[in-house]
Amino acid sequence: MKVLISADMEGATGVTCPDDCAPGHARWEYNRRLLTGDVNAAVAGFAAAGATEILVNEAHADQRNLLLDQLDDRASLLIGTHKPLGMMEGIDRSPDAVAFIGYHTGAGQPGVLAHTYLPNTVTEVRIDGRPASEGRMNALLADEYGVPVVLVTGDDLCCQDAADWAPHAATAAVKTCVDRYSAVCLPPSRSAGLITAAARDGLTALAGRAAVGATAGPTAPPPGGYTYQVSFDAAHLAPAASYIPGVDQIDPLTVRYTLPTMYEAIRCFRAVTRVATSAVENCYG
Ligand SMILES: [Zn+2]
Repeated sequence: MKVLISADMEGATGVTCPDDCAPGHARWEYNRRLLTGDVNAAVAGFAAAGATEILVNEAHADQRNLLLDQLDDRASLLIGTHKPLGMMEGIDRSPDAVAFIGYHTGAGQPGVLAHTYLPNTVTEVRIDGRPASEGRMNALLADEYGVPVVLVTGDDLCCQDAADWAPHAATAAVKTCVDRYSAVCLPPSRSAGLITAAARDGLTALAGRAAVGATAGPTAPPPGGYTYQVSFDAAHLAPAASYIPGVDQIDPLTVRYTLPTMYEAIRCFRAVTRVATSAVENCYG
């Protein structure tokens, strides 16, 4: 059984503040070990449940966070940026299951380090009218490839969010949100146990559903495709994003586009965030 792990950082054990996961910062150096520990805990659980191949895809910032020499040798690591599917690179390599480690809630929602791609520039993303976290959009992409989400780890609010877009996934809450930059955190010796148990349970449950023919297979996109609505924190960003063909400005702060598949919709979202980032100005945002 092949498992893909998408490893973000804001939802990792012990991470609560921007510096904790900002590449180059001393706290980031420290927390790389904790993130690697969360991933290793998941690898142990998946291996116990029969996983024979585990690919870990780096999904945070410049996607060079995990410590390769400390990674469980039952896994391999996809490091670096400019991957066609970004956080979800590897979903097209026929994994049997996918796990979201170190995830977080979306922009505008409560939760530790809540955001969607950009720290503050994007204030809300809606997909077909519903607020969408990175977890929701990545789960929709996984659905399109017929790959079930079996594990989600992050703070308690991320795990609650996951119940809506990955109802069969096991979850492990490694911290309890107090506000956007603070949480009650479990030490890694305890969070690792929770993650390992959830990984084992999530993959075992999938095998059980597969044995009785209860797995879903690829989900066809809705007939009208997916409609993204992306809101920004400054009024020059929506016009900039609307330079992209098919992306329309619908109010001073918001753009909207519709594409037939999540594959196309998520890639367009990446383009929208990159154009917006290029237009952000240091003083006024
Ligand atoms: Zn993220």
